[in-house]
Formats: sequence, C-alpha cells, structure tokens
Amino acid sequence: MGKFLYEMHCHTNEVSRCGKVSAAGLIENYYRMGFSGVCITDHDIDASSTISKKLSWDERVTLFEKGYAEAKKKGDELGVDVFFAWEYSYHCGLQYAGGNDFLTYCLDIDWMRNHPEMSLCSLPEYSNAVHADGGVIVHAHPFREEGYIDMIRLNPRIIDAVEVFNAGRTDKENKMAEIYAEVYELPKWAGSDNHVGKMPVYGAVAFDRKMSSLREICDELLAGRGEIIKLQDKDNVGG
Ligand SMILES: [Zn+2]
Ligand SMILES: [Zn+2]
Repeated sequence: MGKFLYEMHCHTNEVSRCGKVSAAGLIENYYRMGFSGVCITDHDIDASSTISKKLSWDERVTLFEKGYAEAKKKGDELGVDVFFAWEYSYHCGLQYAGGNDFLTYCLDIDWMRNHPEMSLCSLPEYSNAVHADGGVIVHAHPFREEGYIDMIRLNPRIIDAVEVFNAGRTDKENKMAEIYAEVYELPKWAGSDNHVGKMPVYGAVAFDRKMSSLREICDELLAGRGEIIKLQDKDNVGG
C-alpha cells in the first residue's frame, strides 16, 4: 500500500530572501513527487526575509502570510494539503547574528501578530510563549556549520523534537543530529529545507493513512510514529 508523504520544511521566494522557487512552483513539484501535504516554513520576519523592516509589525505579518497563501491556492487546485508554520532564527539580540533555527508548528498567523517581541526575546522566552499556546518546536539542522551560525548550540529542554534528516545537510551533520535525538530521547523529525523546488533527495515523513491536520502530523511524530524517508527524485539524478 502506498504511503502518504509530507514535507515539513520548505521555503518560498515570496517570503524567504534565500528562496529560489515560488510557492506555486514548490507545490507543483511536490504534487509531481506524489506528496499528500506540504508545510510551508518561511524564515521569520527578522531572519532571511524579503519583508522590509521599515514597515510596521502588523504590515510585516500580513506580508509574511503570502508564501503560505499562494502555496495553499495551488495546493487546493492540485489536491495537496498545505499547512502554515515558520522557521524561527535565534538572533542573540543581534540582527542576523547568532543563528540557530527552530521550526515552529501549530500556531497561526494571529499568534505571530500578537507576539512582536518574538524576534528578539531569549530562547527560553520564545519556547515558553510557543508552548503556552500549544505550539511545537523542532530544532532544524542542529549541527549545521554555516557563516551565520556562530556556534553549534543545543537546547534539549526547550525543544520538542530534532530534525535528524535534513536533505540539504551533510551526512556528518545529519548523523550527529540522529545521535543527539537518540541520547536525549527526543522525537525525530525530517525535512528537505527546500529552497529550490526540484531536489536530488527529499526528507519526507510518511504515514499509512492521510493526515487530517498539521496537529495530527505533529502528534504522530512526537509519539514516535510515522517514518522518515529519504526520497530520491528520479527526474533529478545527480542534479
Ligand atoms: Zn533559507
Ligand atoms: Zn529552512
């Protein structure tokens, strides 16, 4: 029996400054790959964002929803479920510095609207606020080495799960993430961190049945159910 595949980590060029693919293009690609659903996780407003800092918080939040809204429109057309989330970057109180990334699920755009302090608060403050309203925090690529990340920084008590397979990271970085999750007994997550559309390999989570909501996907993964699949794109071998 076929599996139901879900993408938990991807970016649109409407909202993520580093994004190379439109929301519609992204969804068309996941449709081609046979995914049942896609969770849009654009970078938060103060991170790698296309949204001008000159605007008010309220205006910026309205623009932030655009990537998701465009993806949802295309998803409704093609029969792919599209979910709203974001990738939060910890800035250590500095713009673009610090750099640890946390996928944040199961909160809506109004939550973001009501939390303008989120971009510059401490990680425990962010975690407390997210968890108070039922949100889920997953440490994205915890062992990523990159210019904007000043150090590998682990915070096992403020997160709900670990992204143990990120299709854009090296085997070493993913292996360390897997060890981290194992030793700390944290639930495992996966994502493609897709910024381009077509990738050689995707990091999917898979289930035996169709999921009714993002909450159900998260609850299943947090309970250790669901499967992590490294899915090759046969149309993009060596790409
Ligand atoms: Zn990015
Ligand atoms: Zn990402």
